[in-house]
Amino acid sequence: MAASLFALIDCDNFFVSCERLFRADLQSRPVVVLSSNDGCVVSRSKEAKALGIPMAAPAYQYQQLFKSQGVVQFSANFELYGDISERIIHLLTAITPRIEVYSVDEAFLSLNELDISDWQAWAVAVRARVLQEVGMPVSIGIAETKTLAKIAGEHAKHVAGLEGVLDISGQLDRRRHYLSETAIQDVWGIGRRLGPRLRAEGVYTALDLARLRPRYAQQLMGVHGRQLVAELTGQCCHQLEQEGRVRQSIMHGRIFGEDTQQFVVIEAAIASLTNKAASRLRAERLLAQTAVVQLTTNRHKPGYQRLNHRLNFQTPSADGGYITAQLVAAVKANFNPHNWYHRVNIMLYDLVSQDVLQPDMFGNTNLEAVQSSSQRLQAVDSINKRYGRQTVHYAAEDLSNSWQPKRLLRSPRYTTSWQELPVVRLLKP
Ligand SMILES: [Mg+2]
Repeated sequence: MAASLFALIDCDNFFVSCERLFRADLQSRPVVVLSSNDGCVVSRSKEAKALGIPMAAPAYQYQQLFKSQGVVQFSANFELYGDISERIIHLLTAITPRIEVYSVDEAFLSLNELDISDWQAWAVAVRARVLQEVGMPVSIGIAETKTLAKIAGEHAKHVAGLEGVLDISGQLDRRRHYLSETAIQDVWGIGRRLGPRLRAEGVYTALDLARLRPRYAQQLMGVHGRQLVAELTGQCCHQLEQEGRVRQSIMHGRIFGEDTQQFVVIEAAIASLTNKAASRLRAERLLAQTAVVQLTTNRHKPGYQRLNHRLNFQTPSADGGYITAQLVAAVKANFNPHNWYHRVNIMLYDLVSQDVLQPDMFGNTNLEAVQSSSQRLQAVDSINKRYGRQTVHYAAEDLSNSWQPKRLLRSPRYTTSWQELPVVRLLKP
């Protein structure tokens, strides 16, 4: 058995595939999903790609094409996508607990401890199972390193006849063939920044890179380059990164549905985003020592303005109400009612675990305050867990709704909202 073995499992056109789960009529039609405020295309069905609609295409420039070609558009429905993603992770975790959730639609599995002789057949079965149980088409790449598994997964998705599965482990000819078919900028960790530099050195494909002397690769790209060469030749440098990594920060930001001069709209946005971030902190038993609020006008319009305020807490906090009050006060003191504000970001960082909070040398940390607020917030969190998010929330979040991004074309939240469940009608024979 190889020293290491990984599978990359990657959902095909993830957002579009989620939309199709409950809309059988969209199966072979061109479909696109749009970003926040219905700005640009962030996911395309195969049919939409064939029409020449590029990734990140601004939706307004393509309305004519969408209309003439019958392209179906959706606003992003992140609640639906998050729920489908969780179902897939749940299923994969049952196959092996050695899983790294890399993004909302991708996961690495470490296969070393599974006792399987035919990986190709195993991957075909996993793929069929995800399709059967969740309805999601995925591609699976298998290889000795994560970088190679990524490459295998990419070819599994695009090469006709592979049916979404490619195992290149232990097969040098096969590996070489697919590396030679992989453009250098498509190698994981190269991208648009390093791609041009490598091409200038005559490195055009993943195979060219794999053949570089490690020392030369290091001269070109630092230690990252040496690791890339190793990974492409089957020596594992990047292990599975499982949970347990301590989170460094939490950020929530929004572009407003429409630019605003009204303080009350901004206050509602700050309250809503801060409380979202704080409840995530609490779910991970963390406290923040620093909070930052950034309020900006549209950078594409003249007179760009940016308000940036940082607060340090002597007593670390996960209390959304307390943090909101501090941030709102800071913004109010510097607010300019002549600006048209476009976007707000909230960041919480310098995070510490609730469980190891210690008094500081000068007695500034108020442990009793943390205790009593955490009991109150636990009550709030348990009510919201039982009866739905936002059952108990701050009135400030309701001051205005007009900051909410526009999602005019959002599909129902089929799996997470009682009011939006799909309805099945049985016809009498
Ligand atoms: Mg994907």
